[in-house]
Amino acid sequence: MTLHPIKTSIESLYVHIPFCASKCSYCVFYSVPAAPDSSRLNFLARLLLEFDEHAAAGKTDGRPMSSVFIGGGTPTLLAPLELEALLRAIRSRFPLRPDVEFSIECNPETLTEEKAAVLSAWGVNRVSLGAQSFSSGLRARLGRSGDPGRIGPAVRMLRRQGIENIGLDLIYAIPGQCMKEWEADLKAALAFGPQHLSTYSLTIEEGSALAADGSLQAPDEALAVEMWETAEAVAESAGMRRYEISNFAVPGFECRHNLSAWHAGTYLGCGPAACSFDGVLRWGNPASLEEWMQPEIRREEDRIPPEARAAESLLFGLRTVDGWEPCEFKERSGFDFLELRGPQIRKLEAEGLLEFRDGRLRPTRRGLLFNDAIGRELL
Ligand code: SF4
Repeated sequence: MTLHPIKTSIESLYVHIPFCASKCSYCVFYSVPAAPDSSRLNFLARLLLEFDEHAAAGKTDGRPMSSVFIGGGTPTLLAPLELEALLRAIRSRFPLRPDVEFSIECNPETLTEEKAAVLSAWGVNRVSLGAQSFSSGLRARLGRSGDPGRIGPAVRMLRRQGIENIGLDLIYAIPGQCMKEWEADLKAALAFGPQHLSTYSLTIEEGSALAADGSLQAPDEALAVEMWETAEAVAESAGMRRYEISNFAVPGFECRHNLSAWHAGTYLGCGPAACSFDGVLRWGNPASLEEWMQPEIRREEDRIPPEARAAESLLFGLRTVDGWEPCEFKERSGFDFLELRGPQIRKLEAEGLLEFRDGRLRPTRRGLLFNDAIGRELL
């Protein structure tokens, strides 16, 4: 099998802010309850040291990054001065492309005009707002605190401060949710004219409070599929296009950061639980604020063999509507995908889950819906 050299310069930065006002019952992301001011300041001081450590180790290779994503947790729980310190530190430590996509996740209840002004002043140009649902009843079922009436004012604050690229996240297939309620959520979100919409099917993940509760049943699969299709019809009527299983965008506003991660792009992760990939090695920070705060961070290195990692990359790229172009896959993964998984690809083609179209290997519509079946063949 031919092994080609692969990229090792870092293309993207991810920063994990682990604080949340309360824990949503479906959530398995690493987060801790909102901390007093002193803990947040200690956290920021440690984060800046981690930035310095990577910069000194030459991890970023001096080449400008094409995207930054500050996620969590709830990054907008940071006070305006803390947000400013974080953004200043990122801009002073890491070289960024002039057209960098600079995103932050924002919980509408925690956004203020002052914070929106800080984000804009420091070049944040894309905000992902966690709406999840506009229905108080459905939010209660998700254990999601906060008032959905704050979503609209948050969108307006961002626009007043000149941030136009706004995405909204919704959750569907919530136990007990009917199609009418889902359509109402989609329409409420699209009424704000966002550039991006993420629609995630609720999965009751092991380790979440929902799984521990056990009283709520996973939704009916046929209804979940119908909701997936409805999301597309409603988003398309608002001028968006599905570009990944769960994501829609107005053409030209697809999330660059996520597209890169799905296509074997390299990224540096800072903060507790953040993962990194430099094109050869993948490693993760401890999912514990306490451990991560130690002077020396004990990172877990992922030693997956190159062939298995390339198969994973192949699968990730096939989450996107445009899939993989053969040369792009070879350049990014080091493998030719037909040499790597030829018989499996042919089988998935015969089953109507994959297709070669316009010079690219893509998932069919059924392949997008049943990505797990593609995974079972390729991994
Ligand atoms: S706000 Fe987001 S990160 Fe925090 S608990 Fe809820 S889903 Fe998890």
